[in-house]
Amino acid sequence: MKMLFLCSFLQVFVLNSYETSAITTADTSLGRLILVNKTYKLPSGYRPYDLVPIEEKYNKGVMNLLRQEAAAAFSRMCSRAAKDSIVLWSRSAYRSDTVQKQLYENAVERRGKEQAERHTAKPGYSEHQTGLTIDINSTHSSFGKTREADWLRQHAHLFGFIERYPQHKENITGYSYEPWHYRYVGTEVATYIVENNLTLEEYHERNGKHSGDPAR
Ligand SMILES: [Zn+2]
Repeated sequence: MKMLFLCSFLQVFVLNSYETSAITTADTSLGRLILVNKTYKLPSGYRPYDLVPIEEKYNKGVMNLLRQEAAAAFSRMCSRAAKDSIVLWSRSAYRSDTVQKQLYENAVERRGKEQAERHTAKPGYSEHQTGLTIDINSTHSSFGKTREADWLRQHAHLFGFIERYPQHKENITGYSYEPWHYRYVGTEVATYIVENNLTLEEYHERNGKHSGDPAR
């Protein structure tokens, strides 16, 4: 009897820990603070309901959609940058999981699985699918040394954007340095993140993953 009890206890324990580690669905109720990375995956077929095209003069990409609030903030940021003679534009914004699947498969073919995964997300694991993310101007690490990148590092948070994959944080974000990849989180949280030198992962860890955003 004792043995039977122990067995069922162990079974429940094993099942519970498996279930805990298997919970990897991103919490879409977090709105613009949603965390999507190599651990948190978007529900299959996820598509934000309020995607709109980026203002034409600030877009050169085929994938030109963002969530409404992020698109408006991006326009404001580009317009303000222009006053400092800084030209910003979107190369790539929202991507469906079908598009991401193609990108991932192409990357694996070109670089092999391990290298590909340092740069390219699997379908469902890309922030671009949230409609809150933009690749700005370039996708080359030399972009980090340009005036545009410098301007972004100093001002993007004032418009609600953060540099999502900063240098020296690869072990936290799971991605190589991408000075062109910006994520919209709203000005309040973006400012907090920049002032405290955090990543979005660290922000959620510090504030509790489900603390949410009072203004979302
Ligand atoms: Zn990107």
